[in-house]
Amino acid sequence: MSDLFPAARYLVPFHPKEEPHFFADVLIIGSGLAGLRAAMAVDPSLSVLVVTKRGISESNSSQAQGGIAGVLSPQDTIEEHYADTLTAGGSLCDPEVVRRVVTDGPDEIRRLIEWGAQFDTDDGEIDLTREGGHSHRRVAHALGDATGKEIMRAVTQRVQSLDNIDVWEHTFTLDLLTDEGECRGALVWNSRHGKTLIWAKQTILASGGLGQIYRETTNPDVATGDGLAIAYRAGAELQDLEFVQFHPTVLYIAGSSRSLITEAIRGEGAYLVDRNGRRFMTDYDPRAELAPRDVVSSSIVKQMERSRHPNVYLDLSHLDGPWVRTRFPGIAETCAKFGLDIAKDRIPVRPGAHYAMGGISVDADGRTSVPGLWGAGEVTSSGLHGANRLASNSLLEAIVYGSAAGQGASAAAHKIDDDYRALPLSNPTLPPQDDPLDLWDIRNSLKSLMWRDAGVTRDAYALSDAASHIQLWSSYVLRNQFDDPSGWELQNMLCLSRLIVEAASRRNETRGCHVRTDHPEMDPQQEDRHITFLR
Ligand SMILES: Cc1cc2nc3c(=O)[nH]c(=O)nc-3n(C[C@H](O)[C@H](O)[C@H](O)COP(=O)(O)OP(=O)(O)OC[C@H]3O[C@@H](n4cnc5c(N)ncnc54)[C@H](O)[C@@H]3O)c2cc1C
Repeated sequence: MSDLFPAARYLVPFHPKEEPHFFADVLIIGSGLAGLRAAMAVDPSLSVLVVTKRGISESNSSQAQGGIAGVLSPQDTIEEHYADTLTAGGSLCDPEVVRRVVTDGPDEIRRLIEWGAQFDTDDGEIDLTREGGHSHRRVAHALGDATGKEIMRAVTQRVQSLDNIDVWEHTFTLDLLTDEGECRGALVWNSRHGKTLIWAKQTILASGGLGQIYRETTNPDVATGDGLAIAYRAGAELQDLEFVQFHPTVLYIAGSSRSLITEAIRGEGAYLVDRNGRRFMTDYDPRAELAPRDVVSSSIVKQMERSRHPNVYLDLSHLDGPWVRTRFPGIAETCAKFGLDIAKDRIPVRPGAHYAMGGISVDADGRTSVPGLWGAGEVTSSGLHGANRLASNSLLEAIVYGSAAGQGASAAAHKIDDDYRALPLSNPTLPPQDDPLDLWDIRNSLKSLMWRDAGVTRDAYALSDAASHIQLWSSYVLRNQFDDPSGWELQNMLCLSRLIVEAASRRNETRGCHVRTDHPEMDPQQEDRHITFLR
């Protein structure tokens, strides 16, 4: 693969004599749930620096709606949560990892409560709801449909109260610093000190997802998959990148943010109709609107093609109007801004990239293949989700793996003596390109290409077309050295898109979220095959 990536080992030039230095025992990249949970798991006698690209609350974690899954009711069992997770993930889950996460999960959720997270209750007990694929009511939620906001409020408050943890907001991680194959910290940039070399005894990457490489996504702007490209350049193994989960119903109104329209709306009886007002899901699956996410997403795409229309619609006009507005106040408010009354008007929706199952390979403790580097949360591929994520298992993974990686990094850092010396690592300056590039044009073209050719459905022809475009754009974008995040993000997005397209081409079967229209069946030979990349 490396011939396809003319980029140097590091994105920008640097020299230890020219940049400021900072020393920490443990460096954590990302302030989502995985990163902040990891920070709290580090021994308080060690110094922790959390760096995050924008404000502390800008993350997928803060956007999480439905809830967090865990066995919290006496009617439920670990065995059933384990079985449900394996069923959703197909043959690619790691059963030991699944068992460990569902077993450790309930205590981790109780810890969130101790730290002040207030889950919704019913008669004094946590009000558990049931989501698709779960055999029990086991999803704890908060503020109705703003679970992430409440959990992150509590966790952030706790982190800010701990003296050993420092948080640098608006600080972009460019690259991991490696020496003789070991991670020694990271090169970061912010507008206050410019480029800075952070030397850390141990580093935890918790930089979240990659939805922004697709034109349609539920993910916030920060989710450009930087951590995956950063880890790849540093020599870490990545796996299962072809598995991207698409949420079937994302609001599609020009000029609005792409808000996720909760699955519960279909659970409560909303119909999916095409531009002619025809209910179409029964053409594709007997479970109609309640079929699994990947089935609903690919059916919507087919119907959009058949009806030659850029979206389909959610229709609630057959339900009781006042009840609809009270049951879904957030969606009603968002749509009202665009003149739509959800009780009467059809809501335009289409699928959007939602969650990345693939990522940096980590072991049961969150250790990556690069010594000194740990990973937690959506940036990793731990073996929990396999080819398809069970709803509400990702916040759970973030706390269980955040805790494990934090403890592991803490124990490893304790064994290393303080040494306030910089290593002689550097990267030369390249000659500047003559013509400035229109980065936003390339970025938008890439997002559209990924959506069209490597989105909800894929085939060999489209994937090969995508690969050639990405190779062409990479050939001039990756040879540049940019001096602000828009260039670095684009370089990371190109690197990662190429890997996703390559993985999707190699997996010539349909499995979980990876739908190949030219190979519509599962291939039993590929049952436990993981597609891995190492630079
Ligand atoms: C709309 C929406 C609804 C969801 N609902 C649910 C739900 O109900 N239940 C559930 O279990 N899951 C849900 N998910 C998924 C879940 O929110 C995420 O998988 C999970 O929160 C990931 O946590 P994380 O800590 O790994 O990453 P994030 O929370 O995404 O945090 C990543 C952090 O890394 C930072 N970062 C990224 N790149 C860099 C860089 N170059 N330098 C420095 N910092 C960087 C980001 O700014 C951010 O702070 C939802 C996701 C979305 C988008």
